[in-house]
Amino acid sequence: MKRVLIAGGAGFIGSHLCERFLDEGYEVFCVDNLYTGTRENIIHLEANPHFHFIEESILNPLDMRCEIILNFACPASPPHYQKDPIYTARTSFEGTFHLLELARKNNARFLMASTSEVYGDPEVHPQSESYRGNVNPIGIRSCYDEGKRIAETLTMDYRRFYGLDTKIIRIFNTYGPRMLENDGRVVSNFIVQAIQGKPLTIYGDGSQTRSFCYVSDLVEGIYRMTMKENFSGPVNLGNPEEYTMKELAHLVLELTGSRSSLEFLPLPEDDPKKRRPDITLAKKELNWSPQVPVREGLKATIEYFQKKLKAGASQRQP
Ligand code: UDP
Repeated sequence: MKRVLIAGGAGFIGSHLCERFLDEGYEVFCVDNLYTGTRENIIHLEANPHFHFIEESILNPLDMRCEIILNFACPASPPHYQKDPIYTARTSFEGTFHLLELARKNNARFLMASTSEVYGDPEVHPQSESYRGNVNPIGIRSCYDEGKRIAETLTMDYRRFYGLDTKIIRIFNTYGPRMLENDGRVVSNFIVQAIQGKPLTIYGDGSQTRSFCYVSDLVEGIYRMTMKENFSGPVNLGNPEEYTMKELAHLVLELTGSRSSLEFLPLPEDDPKKRRPDITLAKKELNWSPQVPVREGLKATIEYFQKKLKAGASQRQP
């Protein structure tokens, strides 16, 4: 069996990827230090003899045989990556370095999960892969944005210098089951607040935009990119359906039937004003485009959080 190492495999996106690669007949090695990943995300896979969980940080060098390495290990929501920004930057640089070294040793294919954050607060809209971005190198988002940029650089230099078979994807805002309830991201915040009847917290005036991709669509794109021959990217993966945060709040209220109010809070520093992927390249090279409309994906995510919050509440009963 071919072995795939998924760093960050116990996280939101990583755990869905572990499932997909098991379904495709791979032996999956999930490496995660559970910084933001959880055992709960992968517990259902642990009985599978082809699934192996290794609780380890990518800040430590790893040694094993594998044919494919996917690097999804990094805290990704602003509150989580800003909690210990030096750790975040080290994870992207040193962690990626260790995985690239392992790929080199194994002559493995290496896929780097990068982000739309490499475009910063974009001056070009929508963002295509040729846009070089508008990133503040010294701001509170830099640990993540610049971390991912240097991870892209390292990946490309391993390709040029050692001839390693590398790939880069740039992931735009993604949502779905297994997002953390306390992730601090807009989709999880709004849904949890709506279910609990608390005010929906809109940062700024809510006119900033994001484009939201459902996790199953993203996983399909990642799988196709991993398998694709002679295409190293970078390639944008995201859903071009664009919403203001105010529109999203109203949509969540409608879909949950919640009567929560809206609460306007200060806009965080360096918060990008708009974001929408140009996915022309993904369509052309991977024959990929998102299939799940935002309303449908939100409904499934709302159901997930309703169940999760109910289970949490019954566990807290004496
Ligand atoms: N946001 C918001 N309310 C929240 C959380 C986030 O209005 O409770 C805004 C945030 O300021 C940003 C957008 O929603 O403009 C997306 O934020 P998120 O943290 O989900 O992702 P990112 O900023 O990394 O795209």
